[in-house]
Amino acid sequence: MAELVIPSAQQLIDGEWTTARDAGELPVADPATGQIIQAVARAGRADVDDAVAAARRAFPGWAATSPSERGALLRRWSELIGEHVEELARVEARDVGKPLSGGRMNVFIARGIIEYFAGAADKLTGVTLPTRTPDYLGYTLQEPYGVCAVVIPWNVPAVLTAANVAPALAAGNTVVLKPSEVAPLAPFALAELARRAGFPPGVLNVLAGFGADAGAALTSHPGVNHISFVGSTATGRAIMRAAAENLVPVKLELGGKSPNVLFADADLDVAIPAIVGSITENAGQNCYAGSRLLVEASVRDEVVERVAERMRAVRIGPWDADLDMGPLVNEAQYRRVLGYLEGAPHDGARLVAGGGPAGDREPGWFVQPTVFDRVDPGSRLAREEVFGPVLAVQEFSGTRQAVDMMNDTDFGLLACIWTSDVSRALRLAREVRSGQVSVNQFADAGVIGYPFNMQKDSGFSRGGGYAAMREYTQEKAVAVRL
Ligand code: NAD
Repeated sequence: MAELVIPSAQQLIDGEWTTARDAGELPVADPATGQIIQAVARAGRADVDDAVAAARRAFPGWAATSPSERGALLRRWSELIGEHVEELARVEARDVGKPLSGGRMNVFIARGIIEYFAGAADKLTGVTLPTRTPDYLGYTLQEPYGVCAVVIPWNVPAVLTAANVAPALAAGNTVVLKPSEVAPLAPFALAELARRAGFPPGVLNVLAGFGADAGAALTSHPGVNHISFVGSTATGRAIMRAAAENLVPVKLELGGKSPNVLFADADLDVAIPAIVGSITENAGQNCYAGSRLLVEASVRDEVVERVAERMRAVRIGPWDADLDMGPLVNEAQYRRVLGYLEGAPHDGARLVAGGGPAGDREPGWFVQPTVFDRVDPGSRLAREEVFGPVLAVQEFSGTRQAVDMMNDTDFGLLACIWTSDVSRALRLAREVRSGQVSVNQFADAGVIGYPFNMQKDSGFSRGGGYAAMREYTQEKAVAVRL
């Protein structure tokens, strides 16, 4: 089994590792130490042109392969990932700063997603359409768009690579992937395994570079036929504006401010660890992080105390110590999160746990898991995505107020309802405006292929399963007079 090496200061275009046209490099740092792990090529506009051109050349041949051939290549890719789990887990963990167990989990999920789409590739079908008389035949064809641009953030790069690249390729598109400049290593490592699996040159191209530079060049490129973006709401808006110029469809998965809504009749022994996990996993740097806790007034004091106690017990350390939580990804993120910690008391919030840096090492962007109680609903902490291990607690009385507070946000990604009253849970699930709802657990059912949907400022897309294949195809209606 050949060792998995990402060539230094390079990018993968047209099946070849190359340097950037202007030989630019991006250093990639370990967030726990500031130590440079390695460099990748820093792509600019000319590199984007090359990658899009390669993807355009590869498209007709790739679209003409049979779906089962595409599925077989995806399966081979997932098998190779299975042979390199530990190397990939280390890359993902060290690049983002998450514990090794978190890196490993992400690699398993990425492999599972690719396997899923390997199986889905030959399941994509059109329909026959009703016609006025038997003298006609109507049917639909599901066709790939062409070149798909995929732009992803740094927080779960392996998973997001798999979740967007695999359905696009399965449906017969070619891809230019731009991972984040902050954590590009796992996408490059996965792309190297795709190369080894035998995907033809140009089918999957990967280049890293800054958003304002390579990202903007890619998403405004006239040679791109579809854009899939995962990242912040602000960048999503900029990308939609760019896409309007070329009239290209956009799939957006953006930020969140997800509530855990806890009623007094919930099983607190189950709910409290899950709520703490929901805001400390990946140091709170998840789009679906449970960053708001709405708790029924009668149990608020007990819940806040128990949550705070667990938050204080979270073990923090670098990726290879493999504790519960790592550092934030970089200095910019660290300063941003500290800004929220400093600002919250001025907005009237009461600090219950944490509240500042963890340890005294800089670089090493560790912050304490933090709980603020009595958070004002109009404050920045209540409304903005912090993207750190910071929990904002608010209290409610009664179901009506719970619904209003759940919906009092610009975002609409995930809502978690904790109660033993089934009909109340189902009523809330109907009334909350979010793409995903979970009851008496945090997040989805743990099944690969489960829908990953968004509403409001969290974006619009149908990710996560068979529906994602449709996102990467356009439908053509054919009418025939017999
Ligand atoms: P970001 O928006 O700053 O960057 C995301 C990607 O977009 C990066 O690759 C970046 O280089 C690129 N980019 C930046 N400006 C661009 C531009 N003008 N044109 C084209 N590309 C550009 O986000 P981030 O800080 O990397 O990631 C954190 C955000 O991602 C959070 O808001 C989080 O909620 C979100 N996220 C959402 C999901 C989801 O599925 N909804 C999943 C993970 C992360």
